[in-house]
Amino acid sequence: METEQIITEGRATIRTSGKVFYNPVQEFNRDLSISVINTFSKEQNVANIEAGVKYDDGITILEALSATGLRSVRYAKEVCGVKSIIANDISHKAVDNMKSNIRENQVEHLVTASENDAIMLMYGHRAREKQFDVIDLDPYGCPSRFLDSAVQAIKDGGLLLITATDMAVLAGNSPETCYSKYGAISLRAKNCHEMALRILLQCIESHANRYGRYIEPILSISADFYIRVFVKVFSGAHKCKYSTSKLSMVYHCVGCETFTLQPLGVLKKTEKQVKFKLSPGPPVDRRCEHCQHTHVVGGPIWSAPIHSPQFINKVLTEVPQHLSTERRIQGVLNVIYEELVDCPLYYVLDRLIGVLHVTSLPMMEFRSALLNAGYEVSYSHAHRTSIKTNASPRVIWDILRCW
Ligand code: SAM
Repeated sequence: METEQIITEGRATIRTSGKVFYNPVQEFNRDLSISVINTFSKEQNVANIEAGVKYDDGITILEALSATGLRSVRYAKEVCGVKSIIANDISHKAVDNMKSNIRENQVEHLVTASENDAIMLMYGHRAREKQFDVIDLDPYGCPSRFLDSAVQAIKDGGLLLITATDMAVLAGNSPETCYSKYGAISLRAKNCHEMALRILLQCIESHANRYGRYIEPILSISADFYIRVFVKVFSGAHKCKYSTSKLSMVYHCVGCETFTLQPLGVLKKTEKQVKFKLSPGPPVDRRCEHCQHTHVVGGPIWSAPIHSPQFINKVLTEVPQHLSTERRIQGVLNVIYEELVDCPLYYVLDRLIGVLHVTSLPMMEFRSALLNAGYEVSYSHAHRTSIKTNASPRVIWDILRCW
């Protein structure tokens, strides 16, 4: 006999058995998604009012990989301005389970259960009038097989929420698998969690570009055992040619672990307009200028901003207070809000100290040294002792050597 579990999370109470996927650790992921979609929904409402569009119906959501339906039930009960939700899963058992959860939570008027291959379902929603405002992809492991259909089934300006849990692949343990799944080489480096986010973002962008679309990341988060990105997707074939200026290769020194980014394209400004010129990017020496060891090359990664501070600020002011992970959301979003958006990747202080064999250096003092020298510094939410800065590696090494 299967034991039935009754789970209360947010405003939903669901039943499930061990045969349908449910992970209590993902409550933070679901709570955060509710906060972000809420802000997005309100933003859409305001945009519609400003554009004079009659806003009588709210947003449409597809949860493409829904399992118990918990997430969809919670979106129905906890997100404002929802018109309809499709909760989809390929597993018959899961769909049976989600149907009863939808019924028992009395959200049948908002949530429809669907038993389909998510990919085929999304391909069936490519026509403009069928596209969704929000698509949530929360697969086991790698989401890349769902991206081609997802970037076509989302409205212009719509929101994609995408989880990846194959962290070993994304964090450099299997660069060749990473290339085959995400079209980028991962590196085993201290900043691998942010690199993982940037590999996933470049992968989504490359799928979007095939259909004359491009992404704008609003929040990218590394948490627990997974990463999750929240990106808006826009149409505009002419803007896709700017995509190479948002991508870079990463040169990682095998000796001192200095990283150098080589953009795939640079934007050249002329007097009249911003004209795009594709260049091979500044050459990076085969040998590291700081320690003469060789480089390994990773990427391409998304090297443009991975968050929108304005959007995060709005989310921060509106996090629903009933969420049990509210304090964690506030904490993480505050760190993310402070992150330097124009400084991809980061150094890790313990590692810098280890490389130089210097006596330990308190984080505050190192940060002050950089600030006093006129540079910007922040943490990354992805690592406790991270240093994001616009100071060059030479400045960083000079400060450490003088210590
Ligand atoms: N989003 C859920 C939550 O928050 O609890 C968890 C989803 S679980 C990680 C992944 C689900 O995707 C499984 O229930 C599995 O049956 C379903 N799945 C896998 N491949 C699929 C496909 N091609 N189409 C639809 N569902 C699929």
